[in-house]
Parts: sequence; structure tokens; C-alpha cells
Amino acid sequence: MAEAEWLDKIADRFPHRPALARGRHVVASFSALRTQAAQLADLLQQMGAQKGDRIGIFAQNTPSFITTLYGIWWAGMVAVPINAKLHPDELAYILNHGGIAHLFASTDTQAAAEDAIAKTDHAVQRHDLDALDDRVAAMTPATRQDVAPDDLAWLFYTSGTTGRPKGAMLTYRNLDEMARGFLETVAPVAPADCIIHAAPLSHGSGLYAVPHLRQGACQVIPESGGFDVEELATLLDHWSGVSMFAAPTMVNRLVRSDVQLTETQRAHLKVIVYGGAPMYAEDAEQALTTLGPKLAQIYGQGESPMTITCLSRDVIAGRDQAQWRDRLASVGAAFPQVKLAVKTADGAIQFKEAQGEVLVRGEVVMKGYWQDPEATATAIIDGWLHTGDIGHIAGDGYLTLLDRSKDLIISGGANIYPREVEEILLTHPDVQDVSVIGRPDPDWGEVVVAYYTGKAKAADLDALCLERIARFKRPKDYVQIDHLPKSNYGKVLKSSLREIDAHRQK
Ligand code: AMP
Repeated sequence: MAEAEWLDKIADRFPHRPALARGRHVVASFSALRTQAAQLADLLQQMGAQKGDRIGIFAQNTPSFITTLYGIWWAGMVAVPINAKLHPDELAYILNHGGIAHLFASTDTQAAAEDAIAKTDHAVQRHDLDALDDRVAAMTPATRQDVAPDDLAWLFYTSGTTGRPKGAMLTYRNLDEMARGFLETVAPVAPADCIIHAAPLSHGSGLYAVPHLRQGACQVIPESGGFDVEELATLLDHWSGVSMFAAPTMVNRLVRSDVQLTETQRAHLKVIVYGGAPMYAEDAEQALTTLGPKLAQIYGQGESPMTITCLSRDVIAGRDQAQWRDRLASVGAAFPQVKLAVKTADGAIQFKEAQGEVLVRGEVVMKGYWQDPEATATAIIDGWLHTGDIGHIAGDGYLTLLDRSKDLIISGGANIYPREVEEILLTHPDVQDVSVIGRPDPDWGEVVVAYYTGKAKAADLDALCLERIARFKRPKDYVQIDHLPKSNYGKVLKSSLREIDAHRQK
């Protein structure tokens, strides 16, 4: 069954149960959410959008994000949720590449959306998500469109290694497998439960809306639209059976905050699923002590949404187990519905006691990259998705990630590809050579640092980045250096540069 059909079924079953809330206040029952989704589908159709068209959502977390997502699916169209922190140029690229003619933006993202649309090669209609209610209420609910399991549901744009984002095509079948993985392996969900979306809906939290809606649980959007520890505590007083998806940075903030969760608040929390970036074992242990056995870890990527390995609540909480420490430092074992392997340096595919690029196969793996057969052919070979992550699978099947082969930097759960930042810095006339690395940071996981040669001033480079890329990708430190460490082939040795950086920090 596809997502709109699930909404239809759940609305029949629990018409009056809360489906959507802003903070403590319910804004839609399942019956109301179904009507609004069907009206939004009508609005899209009236504006000329057709089945299979890609519809963008570029917004902070807000209840109408969920309504729009389901409205798009009700109309058989493809949702393209886009990171609300992207720079207008980056957004414009996605709008062009995805052939997106309708973009829903929230109050905070309207200006960036407008700037981006001015740069697109085709007409894009912009809609205000925060002023949608009246417009939608005036429409006649549309008939739900039938879709096939292999039809596209979600186009998930990831940052590309070449600096250009790629659109992972997620089908209804992929979402189905992702939802099954959550419900069977991460945590069961009952109709009285809810998910608090304190992490961006354009990423993991939004994907987790799917299993929760299917079970009749409520989607709760914090009034702040994001992660605020005090607000979260008050929400935990009100809501129970709570799931949350959180980047490790968020878990650490919660644990280190002055706000101590009460017994009741802790009892209302069912599971915090962390992932998207490495979490140090020490931090996981501290979180376990503070929050109790509520933590599960997942390792996934846009290309295999939320579903490669899972470190379950039991394993994380199993302090008395002999291998507990090692397991806490791992990303868990494969979800039952996927096959996990590594490709070793000699090209062999190994399932145990081996190290190499992490490979995954199964029904959850994307269909390919949108309009990019070359990238698809590089990523999926003989049915195996090549993740670009380097890991070690132990004899008991637990996977430990060692490095990221693509030199990806993960800061506060957001992916930053060095090349993207390097390309911008190299446009400055007084920069000769540049290399961008991640520096370990207790708060953000990593922060971006740029090493460069040439006589450019740090302040000018910072101004250049502000002008050209999203703020979260901007280096926190610019270090002028006489020459960059390079191999015989002239390739910058990032590992040596990281050592130099670590030395400078002492
Ligand atoms: P994205 O496609 O934005 O979800 O990013 C996926 C990448 O984030 C993966 O390829 C990994 O490099 C990293 N990642 C995801 N989950 C974890 C995890 N639990 N631990 C470490 N890194 C992770």
C-alpha cells in the first residue's frame, strides 16, 4: 500500500484521533488530514501539476509540511523536500535539475526561495506554506490517485562528491521497506504514540513520519520548529509514547543541558533514534545514563533511507554484556531485510571479518539517481549500493564505520562535501591552493576548516562563502599555510592535513 492509501485507511479507522499537532495543540484529526491532503491535491491539479510531477518543499518544520507531503502523494506526484538551510544558488540547482515547477516555502524561507526562482531556467510557482489553510479549505477534495510500488514518492537530494547534489529516487516500495524496518527492528508504534519532529522534516525525521502515520500515531511539530531542550521537556509532559529522530549533536545537547528531564518526562519518551553522523561511544554511554534505555542508533543514507544497520535499544542498554563497549562504538548489525557486505581493497565482496567500502542491497535501496545514469551506474553495481563509507564487519555481523571514503564532513548532522567549499574558495584571485577538512568538535561532531595558500585574507574568504554557499557549510577557521601536504601525484593528502590541524590545536 502506498502512503496516501495508508492515510485513507487510517482515517477510516481512527477518524477522530489526533494526526497532527503544533506543540501541545492538535491541528488535525486523521479525518481532517485526509480531507486537507485531498484538497491540496486538488489545488495542485488546478494549477496544472500532473501525476509524476516533482513538487518542492523548502521549509522549516511546520504542520503544513506534513499536509503538503500527503497532498502531493494523494495526487500521485513526487515530493522533493529540500534542506531549508540551502543557499539560493543551491536551491536553484535542485529546482532546475529536478524540473520542479511548484515550490512550497515557509515564512522563513520565502526570500531565499524567491532569489532561487529568479535564477531558474523555467517558471516556478512559489506557494506560502504558512498561508495555505484558507487556500486549501476552498478546494474540492480530489480523488486519490493510484500508484505502483515502483513509482517515485520522494526525490531525496544529497550533496554530491563533485559539489553538485544528486537526487536519490525513492519509490513507494523503498518507503515501505523503510517503514517496516522501523516498526520491526527499531521500535513498534501504537496508535496512542507520537513522533516529535525536532529534526528537519526534509531528512530523517520526515521519512519517519511514514511509519508513524501508518500506525495512527500523531505527528508533533514543536512550536519552535526545531530542537529546543526546554520546549522538548514540556512536550514530554504532554505527549507519551514519544519517538524522535536526532543527530548525535542533538542528543549530546539534551544530555549536557541544564534541563533535567523529570521521571514522567523520561517515562513518556519511548525512543530517540540517533544517526546521520558518528556518535562517540563515550557520548552514547552518557546519554544512556541520563535518558535510560531509550536510545537506538541507525546507519543509513539517502540512497538507502534510514535502513542499513541498527544498534537496538537492547544492545545499547546491555551494559552487562561482554562486548558492550565494542558494540556501542559500532553502528549495529544489518536490518533483517537488507544484505550487508564490504568490498575489500582487492575488490572481493565479504560478509564477515573484513574491511572495505560498505555495500548494501535490498528492496530499500533507491531506484537510482534522478536523470543521472552515470552516477547510478557508479553507485549501484550488480545490485549492490556502494555507500562510499569505509567499515569493518566483525564476526558477529556488527559494522563499525572507520572513515568516509569521500572525505565527507558531518557537522551537526549535516553533510558537507569539502570539494563544494573548495571550489568556491578557489574562485578568489588570491587563493592558490586550498583543502577543506573536518576538525573534531565536541559540540558539532566536526567543524569545517579551510587550509589555503596565497595572500587572501580570511575575512574576504568568509565574505565570499557567505555570498555563495549555505551558512552551515562555511569554514569556522581559515588557515593560511606555505604549502599543502601532497602526494607524488600532486593530490592533497587530507589525512596529513588533519594531523597538522590536530597538532596546531594542541
Ligand atoms: P545522508 O544521505 O544525508 O543521510 O548521509 C548519509 C551519510 O551519513 C552516510 O553515508 C554516513 O557517512 C553518515 N552516517 C549516517 N548514519 C551514520 C551513523 N549512524 N554513524 C556514522 N555515520 C553515519
